Amino acid sequence: MPARARKTPLHKSLTRRTQPRSARAPKRSHARSSPREKWVYLFDEGRADMKDLLGGKGANLAEMTSLGLPVPPGFIVTTRACNAFLAAGSRFPEGLWEQELAALRKLEKRSGRSLGDPDNPLLVSCRSGAKFSMPGMMDTVLNLGLNDAVAERLDADTGDARFAYDAYRRLVQMFGTVVLGLPDEPFEKVLEDYRRRRGTENDAALPPEDLKAITREFQRLVREHSGRDFPQEPLEQLRLATEAVFRSWNGKRAVDYRNAAGIAHDLGTAVSIVTMVFGNRGENSGTGVVTTRNVSTGERELEGDYLNNAQGEDVVAGTRPTLRIAALKAQWPKLHAQLEKHCQKLERHFRDVQDVEFTIEEGKLWMLQTRDAKRTAQAAVRIAVELATEKLITRKEAVLRVKPEQVDFFLHPQFSPAEKKAARERGALLATGLNVSPGAASGVVVFDADTAQRWSKEEKKAVIMVRPETKPDDVHGMLAARGILTSRGGRTSHAALVARQFGKPAVVGVSAMEVDLDKRQLTVAGRVLREGDTVSLDGTTGEVFAGQLETRIPDLSDPHLLELLTWADGFRTLGVYANADYPRDAELARKLGAEGLGLCRTEHMFFETERLPHVQEMILARTAEERARALLWLLPFQREDFLGLFRAMDGLPVTIRLIDPPLHEFLPSHDELLHDVTELETRLGLLKGKPETKGMEQKLAQKRRLLDTVTSMRETNPMLGLRGVRLGIHLPALVRMQVRAIFEAACQCAREGVRVFPKVMIPLIAHRNELRLEKETLEAEARAVMEEQGLEVAYQFGTMIEIPRAALTADQLAQDAEFFSFGTNDLTQTTYGISRDDAETGFLSEYLEKRILPENPFATLDQRGVGALMELGVKLGRAVREDLDIGICGEHGGDPKTIAFCHRIGLDYVSCSPYRVPIARLAAAHAALATS
Ligand code: PEP
Ligand code: MG
Repeated sequence: MPARARKTPLHKSLTRRTQPRSARAPKRSHARSSPREKWVYLFDEGRADMKDLLGGKGANLAEMTSLGLPVPPGFIVTTRACNAFLAAGSRFPEGLWEQELAALRKLEKRSGRSLGDPDNPLLVSCRSGAKFSMPGMMDTVLNLGLNDAVAERLDADTGDARFAYDAYRRLVQMFGTVVLGLPDEPFEKVLEDYRRRRGTENDAALPPEDLKAITREFQRLVREHSGRDFPQEPLEQLRLATEAVFRSWNGKRAVDYRNAAGIAHDLGTAVSIVTMVFGNRGENSGTGVVTTRNVSTGERELEGDYLNNAQGEDVVAGTRPTLRIAALKAQWPKLHAQLEKHCQKLERHFRDVQDVEFTIEEGKLWMLQTRDAKRTAQAAVRIAVELATEKLITRKEAVLRVKPEQVDFFLHPQFSPAEKKAARERGALLATGLNVSPGAASGVVVFDADTAQRWSKEEKKAVIMVRPETKPDDVHGMLAARGILTSRGGRTSHAALVARQFGKPAVVGVSAMEVDLDKRQLTVAGRVLREGDTVSLDGTTGEVFAGQLETRIPDLSDPHLLELLTWADGFRTLGVYANADYPRDAELARKLGAEGLGLCRTEHMFFETERLPHVQEMILARTAEERARALLWLLPFQREDFLGLFRAMDGLPVTIRLIDPPLHEFLPSHDELLHDVTELETRLGLLKGKPETKGMEQKLAQKRRLLDTVTSMRETNPMLGLRGVRLGIHLPALVRMQVRAIFEAACQCAREGVRVFPKVMIPLIAHRNELRLEKETLEAEARAVMEEQGLEVAYQFGTMIEIPRAALTADQLAQDAEFFSFGTNDLTQTTYGISRDDAETGFLSEYLEKRILPENPFATLDQRGVGALMELGVKLGRAVREDLDIGICGEHGGDPKTIAFCHRIGLDYVSCSPYRVPIARLAAAHAALATS
């Protein structure tokens, strides 16, 4: 037995090679290792809650073993071993190899086979598996233990040369590409040549002699490209494979994926060494991947793909068309029933939908992996609600299982049915594939990941990434793309998994589409689309269209979402209001669950075309009478605006903020006016005395007047100038008109039976005297209106807190203000001293890239700085007025992290744009549950 005879010396020599190196203390060991550290766990020594140490795959294999499911025996090398290996510059820590060998001996004993023994060979796989699933991002090597002698004997003994050499050629290829880092292409080219010679697309159809010849060619490629022979010694194979899996933790695609998915870089991967079982042992063997529910829609049905006579990689790679799992039921009903039973057991045990890999070896079912299944947002909501309804989880857990950001999906664009119908009628429907990740996307076709990234980032194009199938190396392109389209692959293909995880619409397995990467074109039924042509895909239905289709936001009537949000409402204590300026937005916000309006920016109404000339007239007025005339004209419009809002929000508070922006925003720009005046002056000079100059002179006078006013109002820092309350104090008639409009509308509504509760909000207060003066004048106006109308309505006057000084003196302000609302857009601007208007497209992006700031402070609240001011404002304000009503109405009010903060500091409500209201409802529930 030559292989056996060599085993002991090599085992020793490998051990010796490790010891002196690992004796040196690792420089930067994340996992502080002790010589007695347990680096290796047999499957029956681990548990599901040991994911930190054993990785998700390893821990769950251990758990499945203890559940009594048919799992091939194996053991796990810990994540700490990986970290120690990487920290020590790619050296095994002390004791690891010995423990691996000891575990291997146990495995050999249990299986009654030996690694490298041609008479009775044990073959193992070496699989990566980190704490968090990173599908396909790290390496795995299968069929370790095969060498020339073992393959030959396997062939002779089993008479199944096809099987022996199919497994062997896979090992040599994986060893070459994964362990030795050789390129894939030469191997693929050899395979392709053989397939072409035999006129087949399918590797499984190649005869044994071809597979044997391919193995030899692969060995030659390894020699030629790496300068070393494919190792015949199985222990050396195992050791090198373990090292390769460790190293793959720091491979480019794994690092990219972790960056995108927000996974920490210091977790390390575990390595599971598992006895091989073979799905490619003939027609009574097969392999597949199922999820215990449909992970696209959430429906309760076993869903997945399988292949006869194949190994797992064939299913995921999408190189052969897979069969739906229903076909397994027809073929082997008993095995299907067993699988279903195991799946149910797993789902009940893990209390969540599982993604399961299985293999059937000569009629026996083996369970190879289980993990919580990745799912679309739509499925996440349905699954959470149904698991709670089935009493597998509590409602609280259901609410916590859906991330607030996932609700965003329900707001994702879709194609309207009418648009699609029209597209079909004009013959734009190219083909239909598998609808693996919902949502609609249009964009230009690109055929590789780098181009996708470049066109999207640098040229700001919407791109659709088209590939025959995707590989982990493509992830950066997939992230940059609006949608993903592949000609091969199933629901569990790499493209489908990644698309679902990142919420990208995707259609895969479009078999009618031929993708030619060399010519950079795709062909469907004779129609050719080249790189740069536009395509549209519907990941919800699987349809692919030529050209651009308009997208629309769907309505939010998904019954599972509505149920989940109702449960969330039961847990949250924060109110959720909306920012809305028009009645239609207020109606939408209310439908989405808003409990009030937290901000109506009244100036938006002034910009409407028919009103703007009167606003300008009011600004340019030379006398009080002229101004009063213009305001009188505006009054009914404002009243109508408020009537609409009050009616839409019947019974709920409506916060109306008085005019805020600098007045010059309502006038033409200084440069534009200067240009017009200069041009008119020049033309008049040229046409001196001619009759056509008459109208021009009048125009010039008008423009000069405008220019004079604009020049006189020019400020170096308009955002720190005459705006907010300062404007109200400067032009009292303007804000009085606004208050009159509010109360006239409120009285009219009250008369109609609409329950109104106006909250008048004064912006940009910095000093108590501003508030006091403004409140006095305006409340007097409000009372005057109510007296005129002979009616009383409940109301409040309050202030925005959006200047640091307001937060610092909140106790003084609370003496006059009945409510506070944090305007965190301005508060961020003024606390940071960063312009909210142009920093985000300027230096701030550099700051974020260089990680000088961890987050964009205009998107997620700076809790340490701006947040500290808010906290102080709440404390000071409530010390004076215990029941002070406090909210937030800056953009941050719809950001889940900020919402959690607002909950912690005791705000009464958050206010955000209508479409973020459902997200905020869920985020507020999460915040409450996190602190309960
Ligand atoms: C704010 O400053 O946060 C705010 C809500 O007001 P605006 O954005 O209108 O200045
Ligand atoms: Mg503001």
